[in-house]
Parts: sequence; structure tokens; C-alpha cells
Amino acid sequence: MANKIHILGADVANKIAAGEVVQRPASAVKELIENSLDAGARHIAIIVREAGKTLIQIVDDGEGMTAEDALAAFQRHATSKILSAEDLEEIKTLGFRGEALASIAAVAQVELKTRQSHADVGALVRIEGSEVKEQGPAATEPGTSIAVKNLFYNTPGRRNFLKTRQTELKNITDVVTRAALVFPGIGWQYVSDDEQLLDLKPKDPDGRMADLFGDRLFRALIKVEEHSEFLHMSGYIGRPDFARKSRTEQFLFINRRPVVNRALNHAVFQAYEHLLEKGSFPFYALNLELDPHRVDVNVHPSKLEVKFENESAVYRFVLSAVRKALGAHDLMPSISMNAVPSDIGLDARLRFIPPPAQTDLADVAGRAGDSADVDPDIVLRRVERRIGEEAVQRDGEATFPSDLHQTQRPAPARILPLRPMGAGAEQHPVSGQSPIWQVQNKYILSQIRSGLLIIDQHVAHERILYEKAVANFENNLPSTQQLLFPQTVQLSATDYSLAKELIPHLEKLGFDLKPFGKNTVIIEGIPADVRVGSEALILQDVLDEYRNNEHTQTMDARDNLAKSFACKAAIKAGDRLNTSEMLVLIDQLFATQMPYVCPHGRPIVVKITVEELDRRFGRT
Ligand code: ADP
Ligand code: MG
Repeated sequence: MANKIHILGADVANKIAAGEVVQRPASAVKELIENSLDAGARHIAIIVREAGKTLIQIVDDGEGMTAEDALAAFQRHATSKILSAEDLEEIKTLGFRGEALASIAAVAQVELKTRQSHADVGALVRIEGSEVKEQGPAATEPGTSIAVKNLFYNTPGRRNFLKTRQTELKNITDVVTRAALVFPGIGWQYVSDDEQLLDLKPKDPDGRMADLFGDRLFRALIKVEEHSEFLHMSGYIGRPDFARKSRTEQFLFINRRPVVNRALNHAVFQAYEHLLEKGSFPFYALNLELDPHRVDVNVHPSKLEVKFENESAVYRFVLSAVRKALGAHDLMPSISMNAVPSDIGLDARLRFIPPPAQTDLADVAGRAGDSADVDPDIVLRRVERRIGEEAVQRDGEATFPSDLHQTQRPAPARILPLRPMGAGAEQHPVSGQSPIWQVQNKYILSQIRSGLLIIDQHVAHERILYEKAVANFENNLPSTQQLLFPQTVQLSATDYSLAKELIPHLEKLGFDLKPFGKNTVIIEGIPADVRVGSEALILQDVLDEYRNNEHTQTMDARDNLAKSFACKAAIKAGDRLNTSEMLVLIDQLFATQMPYVCPHGRPIVVKITVEELDRRFGRT
């Protein structure tokens, strides 16, 4: 029988590869820009016509090529960037597959002019549908100019699949923007149908951000800079009030390579918790640097996907870096000036006040409240410092010892001492006058320098317990109180299997549980924050809440559990608090990473400024 298999010719093979590498004009632009960057260009111009359909031209001042290389560059698997398979483990350039030029030349008419700076004369190559039409010397500037005409002229299927000109242009603009964003030191020019869309001079990162997005957005950005042993992340995140209704303003880079990564996207989103309205997405532009050994960029021909050696570690790093950056800024809603008086609290429009001059989180956290010595003045000054108000020095008072604990490691917030339910606040008379009150057994009012803070006691405690639970998961230092009389709890079959599954996590929270069979568990110890006597109820509540969360959101199990626990173990509206309990609560709250929203997204603190009160009473 005759054999049936034959090897495809280079032109067919290149066309097939082009299907993956060059899906649309924007992907050709991306590949060509990457080549210019890899060639060490300091200035890159991008010129397109009809959204890249008739012309894409990239001109750079990079290292250029010899005449032989200029021809070889169009061969499939022709690259100067890697030599061996081992090199794939350690890719430092943006390109490495050696197929972009071959693919583009298979589906377009390409003219390449290039010259190395020391060479007297440059080289020209003209190639159409993988066929070399012309080659020879050329008079040209040092660097490389490549013109791609009539993309997909010989693949009508592809051409017909292109979206509207507007959409294709937007895709190209997006590619150029991303590159300009993460390479601020390079000059960029971008021209579409003779209209100059971008003309960016080399700048520092801040300057480039401002040039790209305008001063207004730039001022709404929070800078992020975070190191760990293996990772370095830098960039910008948007203040929550600058969130958008779509994800288009989310820029993620790994070693300055634009990537799409759902997990890290989720990590950023998660860090905002519910600072964002439903359906809105934060602005971010973040570049993550890590050893190329630890990330595989050879996942897909488009190079937009990466695989991490340890994705969950990277996830946690991004989550905590973004959370920290957000927490270091005052995102506290304050009652808006134009709210109708009777609507205070209901109609309070969230207004984000500028960041504090200097907030040292570690310093604040290091002094997380100690119930033994709660001096209202000290506590309230910590709060003021945390939210960026200078501590006021009143007559006859010692200055707050600001450097007292600065060298201490941040400690997880201590436990709020809770009295058995029903005990009255009168038991703890506080000498003198404290600028702190409980209202309706629900809210804590406290005077600070700039006005009045109103704190929702339940969500405040929820935030404290949540961060403590998360810290326990990470550090493995739960505080358990052993029960004198272990409690037997009968659960439903589903709850029983859920509890069994969650036991390792519950233990980290401080529960000491033993499955006893027949849908029964024995509670031998409970977290230090849980009131003795309510343990069975709290366990049941936590399981319920866990299951609710599981359906509505995709959270990882530990985070879910931390939230459920915090919600159920926290003091409730209606619980009476005495002054020192309130002070401890406030102190611990402002030692958390994010004192302004609870893990479910409700606001914790509202501020009314003196100016606002003055305005309402016509004192302005
Ligand atoms: P890759 O970038 O994966 O190596 P390409 O097909 O994109 O593959 O390019 C092939 C080779 O052509 C590159 O390895 C590089 O040596 C050379 N080259 C392409 N574009 C340029 C450029 N703008 N300046 C200098 N050399 C270039
Ligand atoms: Mg390339």
C-alpha cells in the first residue's frame, strides 16, 4: 500500500503557525514591539493604517541585524535568543520561539530594513507569503524598520474574521499602552492613519503613568512596592472610588511581559474585598519580578500565559501586598458635605480623603491594644496617627511616646476581653471623662482631633477576628481555651462531614474538635475569643455560614472559614460594652490591616469632621 504521510512545506507550516501567533493585527504589533525591545531599542515608533489591516510599521533604534540575519530571521525557529532546551528554563527576553517573523511573513507582504550602528550600509529584505521577493543593501538609519502590509491578504478566512476597525484599533492601542506602561524609560510614538495617538518621552514610572492616564487618574493611584525573598512587585493600584465597570484597566506583567492570569487577577480583586461596588473592577498596573526559573513562559505561542512553579505562594504575595498598600491609606468614608442632614449614615456618600502623611503600620500594629492599660488618650492618638492626623499635644500632657514600640515585631491583635453576656457596663466605672461613648449598644462614638468617629462595634470586632484568624492560619499559633466540660454536639450528616473535612482548619482557629461518629463531634477546646457556653451555637453557625459563602463566592477554604468564624464569634449589636472594652476594640481595630471595611464589605467607620458639623449648624 502506498504511504500517505508527507512533510508540509515551509509556507504551509508557517501559515499554520501564523494562525496561533498572529491572530489579529494587534498580535503582530505585540510581536514586533517585543523584537524591538529585545534589540535594546530606546525609541520605538508604531505606525498603523486602517487599524493595521493595510499597514503596520515599527521603527526602532535597536541593535539591528546583519544582511544574513535579516534573511534568516524569517525562517521558522530562527532566533538569536535561545540556543538549547536548557535556555527555555531561563528566558530573559520577550521573544524566544523564533516564529513571529516567519509567521507574519507567511500571511502578509513584509519589508524589512535594518542596519547595525557600526555598519556602513544596511540590508533590505522583501518577502510575500513566505517567498523572498527582494534582498540587497539599503540606505537606512541604525536600527530596524519593518513594514507589514495587507495582513492576511492570502488567508481570506482570517481577514474576514477581523472585528470592526474600531475594535482592532483598540486592541492595538491596548498593546502599545501596555508596553509603554512597563517600559517608561523608552520613548514611544504611535500613529494611526496619520493621527498621532501617543508621543511619549522617556520618563520615570510616575511620569509615564501620568502621561498615559492623565493627572486626575494618576492622583487616584496608590503606589505598590513589595519584596519577598523570591518576588518583587511594583506598580499602582486605583483607589476604590476609581473602579471601573469593566476590566479593561487592569495591567499585569510578569518580568515586564504582559500576561493574562486569572489567579493573580483574583488575588488583586480579593485584596479590595468589598471596597468595591458589585460589578466594578479596580484599576491596577502591576509588574511582578521573579527568577525566570520559577516561571514558565512557554505555555502558548502568544506568550500571554505563564505557569508559576508555586502559584499559591505568588497568589498570597500579591494578595497581601495589595491589601497592605490599601490598608496604609485612609479609605474611610466621611459624611459627605452635600448629604441631607436627616440622611446621615444612610445617604453618606463615600468620599475618600487623601492619604496620611506618614503611617507606619508596623508601628501601629506593634502596640495592638493591651486591655490592662487602656488610656483613652493614648488609644485615640494611635487612631489619629493611623488615619493620618498629627497627634495634638494638649497642655500639661506628655507627648505620646511614638518610638516606644517601633522596633517590635507586629503582633497579631490581642483578644478582646469579653464579659459574660448580660453583665452591665456599670461594673467598670471609668475615672474622669473619656471621649468615647456607646450608642444604642451598637455604635461607638469617639472624638478625634478632626471631628467624630462612628464605629459599628460588630463589624469592627469581625474585622479584628478575621485578621487574627488569617494570621493563625499562616503562623499556626492558635490560642485555645480548653473546656472543663467537653461538649458533645449532634450535627446533621452533611454538617458532620463538612466539620470533619474542616477540622485541620478549625484547629488552627483554636477549636479542639474530635469526631465521635454518628454525626457527633466533641468540642474539647474553643478559640479564646469564643464565649464559653456558646461554643456549640458558634460551631453550627460557622458551618452554616461557611456553606452559604461557598455557594455565593469562590473563596479559598481558609479565607471562607476565617470570615465565617469572625462573623459568628464577634460581639453583636446589642452587646453592651464598657469604656475599656470600647477602647480595646478601637485600638485593635486600628491595628488591623484594613480598619475601614469588614470582611463582608460593610463599612466599619464613618467620620464626621468638625467642618461638616460647622456647616450644618451654619457656622461657616
Ligand atoms: P524571536 O523573537 O522569538 O527570536 P522572531 O521571529 O520574532 O523570533 O525574530 C527572529 C529574530 O530576528 C530574533 O531572534 C532577532 O535576532 C531578530 N530580530 C527580529 N526583530 C528584530 C529587531 N527589531 N531588531 C533586531 N533584531 C531583530
Ligand atoms: Mg520575536
